[in-house]
Amino acid sequence: QEKDYQFMLRTTSPGGFIPPQLYLTIDKLADEYGNHTMRVTTRQGFQLHGILKKNLKAAIAGMVKSMGSTLSACGDVNRNVMAPPAPFKNRPEYQYAIEYAKNISDLLKPQTGAYYDIWLDGEKIISAEEKPEVKAARQTNGKGSIVHDNPEPIYGTHYMPRKFKVCVTVPGDNSIDLYTQDLTLVVMTDNESKLEGFNVFAGGGLGKTHNKEETFARMADPICYVTKDDVYEIVKAVVATQRDYGNRIDRRHARLKYLIHDWGVDKFRSKVEEYFGKSLTPFKELPEWKYQDFLGWHEQGDGKLFLGVSIENGRIKDEGPLQLKTALRKIVQQLNLPIRLTPHHNAILFDIELKEKQVVQEILERHGVVTEPSKIDSLVRYAMACPAMPTCGLAVTESERAIPGILERIRSLLDNIGLENEHFVVRMTGCPNGCARPYMAELGFVGSAPESYQVWLGGSPHQTRLALPYMERLHHNDIETQLEPIFVFFKQSRQTEESFGDFCARVGFNAISEFVSRWR
Ligand code: SF4
Repeated sequence: QEKDYQFMLRTTSPGGFIPPQLYLTIDKLADEYGNHTMRVTTRQGFQLHGILKKNLKAAIAGMVKSMGSTLSACGDVNRNVMAPPAPFKNRPEYQYAIEYAKNISDLLKPQTGAYYDIWLDGEKIISAEEKPEVKAARQTNGKGSIVHDNPEPIYGTHYMPRKFKVCVTVPGDNSIDLYTQDLTLVVMTDNESKLEGFNVFAGGGLGKTHNKEETFARMADPICYVTKDDVYEIVKAVVATQRDYGNRIDRRHARLKYLIHDWGVDKFRSKVEEYFGKSLTPFKELPEWKYQDFLGWHEQGDGKLFLGVSIENGRIKDEGPLQLKTALRKIVQQLNLPIRLTPHHNAILFDIELKEKQVVQEILERHGVVTEPSKIDSLVRYAMACPAMPTCGLAVTESERAIPGILERIRSLLDNIGLENEHFVVRMTGCPNGCARPYMAELGFVGSAPESYQVWLGGSPHQTRLALPYMERLHHNDIETQLEPIFVFFKQSRQTEESFGDFCARVGFNAISEFVSRWR
């Protein structure tokens, strides 16, 4: 008899868009075949854990028939394309961002029919029409050498050397962690908010391996500006450069960030230029980036409302007085509301009529869900954790199950030293792959051994600077002993309004270590 192999299913949902029927299907599949929970990922998708091999086909077919897909949510292809989750209808740049996230997702979708042959017995269900210009951009040979007599005109015969991550954002909105992506496009509009083109960043990526210096987290660099007519050509040019020159020998050195690191940005730019077929235009100036989570009630700009709901660790479940899964199901069933999943594993219900606000609010309150962001401890609000144990085979220690307790302990530490109103971005992962992007946090915990974490300090509150590894191995029992003196130093020596991450970056680890040893 075959073993009960378990699988995780992950959706591809560009910009985190989940139509109501898909939401209800995933909710049902979680009960029928999964572990009765749904996990919002940090790339705006859903994960279902605990699907037995014998149920995979029914689960995937169920999703596809409800306009969902799992195609290219994993593997050496373009992954889920991210976009700021706010459904603002009166801010065209937000509409462009989700529109182009969907278009680029379509452009880079693997063309193989194998997915449909395996999971749907060959029945090809198109979840949503792709635009003719996207189809044309994929089919044309393009400029340069993106030419293949192959069913995969962009990926060629061997797909990508490694996973590839894209996001589309708007100036100033860093809800999508733009510096951590292989390719970031920033929507650029004219004075009348008409789309003109895109600024392009490339070469971000966080995954690394402990004790292997040749692996590292890296922030994306500004590359160029392109007009909107050239956007698919630049995407193909960057993808083709990585496809043809990315390292295919060593998977640990295969992401685009290593190619750009090894070559330098100038050489990378000229190679992209060759594929692009014309000179690249300089990058345009951008305003400062700001992290936003869009929690709470907001007007979406067309007379309707949206509500950002905080989901601790992205886990939608029913547990004790908090019946989040039931509440969201009831709301979606009753009001047929679509959802945008956020890059911080929260969910935004949108298209809510004014007269429906009370219904939504009441259902959530009745099921123990807090909707007022100020009632959530900001340490919890801004924290992220990856699933890790028991569902991720790569985890070396706990993350999702450990972080609530650790945040409580950090909160009491801060309270005890008179920093009760302080909060900062804490992120935790169960291994150095960094799925919850801990290397951008102000305080990052990266699983390094059972019950132990590498500690990263010095990221910025808006995720515009990489943190640095401060300590190789912190056993969770020693959190108070190790962190308390750093918080005391922060309290004593911070500048006005300075955040914890900015403080650590300014004073540096030598000063921190010196203070810590004197304090002891
Ligand atoms: Fe990702 Fe590692 Fe966490 Fe698994 S344990 S979810 S691979 S960061």
